[in-house]
Amino acid sequence: MSYISLQTNHPEKYPYDLKIAHFYGDLMNTYGDNGNVLLLKYVAEKLGAACAFEIVSLGDSFKMSDFDLVFWGGGQDFEQQVISEDLQNVLPGLKEYVEAGKPMLAICGGYQFLGQYYIDAAGNKIPGTGILGHVTKNLGDDRFIGDIEIRNEEFGETYYGFENHSGITYLSENEKPLGRVVYGGGNNPDDDTEGLHYKNTFGTYFHGPILSRNPRLAYRIVRIALEQKYPSVQFPAFDELFRDLESEQITDIKRKIETN
Ligand code: GLN
Repeated sequence: MSYISLQTNHPEKYPYDLKIAHFYGDLMNTYGDNGNVLLLKYVAEKLGAACAFEIVSLGDSFKMSDFDLVFWGGGQDFEQQVISEDLQNVLPGLKEYVEAGKPMLAICGGYQFLGQYYIDAAGNKIPGTGILGHVTKNLGDDRFIGDIEIRNEEFGETYYGFENHSGITYLSENEKPLGRVVYGGGNNPDDDTEGLHYKNTFGTYFHGPILSRNPRLAYRIVRIALEQKYPSVQFPAFDELFRDLESEQITDIKRKIETN
């Protein structure tokens, strides 16, 4: 199912192009997660790439070579129950995609689905794709809700977001976290990890949407996709491309502080 409204206008004017799969985008799109799709498009166009988006949903199969980037949003327990039964359709292609190191961002329910299973708030064990080793248990009648900040030392970046989940995730040995919790809940109450980083797959509990609040992460993911597709092209660095954007954000924050 194509998102006609989201296709880049006049794609022929752009030197590059990206095909982006939005996994279960019609069913998993909580807390503004679809804003991530807009950010991917914004950054890709800035880097000279026209975008075409396709929702991959119930009954669809997934072929790795058809897409350059995958986005998978968050969902509620009921939708996750329904989608779990469909995951076998996308599984072979998605597993190949992740292992090949192609880029993906998965939020909350999507992140949970990349792992072995999710135990929902009612205690049902919902099978995931099993592509990665993490498991997701549950806080029961409690949830992690609120602002969160994490630090990724490898990238030298700090990410800000808003989390709302009852699932608590435990990473396996070969998965790194997306960052260490500075404040907020994160993956679980027992370690200070938040999210997941495996090859070029990124998982996180951040809504908000994460990419609009953390443009460096949006740039990182889009750039991976472009470099894989156009290995001989030298793409501009984040600072070159978005110097104005960051100073605009700082001005905006200052204005908000001053008027409050
Ligand atoms: N239903 C899942 C949970 O509560 C995922 C929530 C979400 O994607 N926001 O943990």
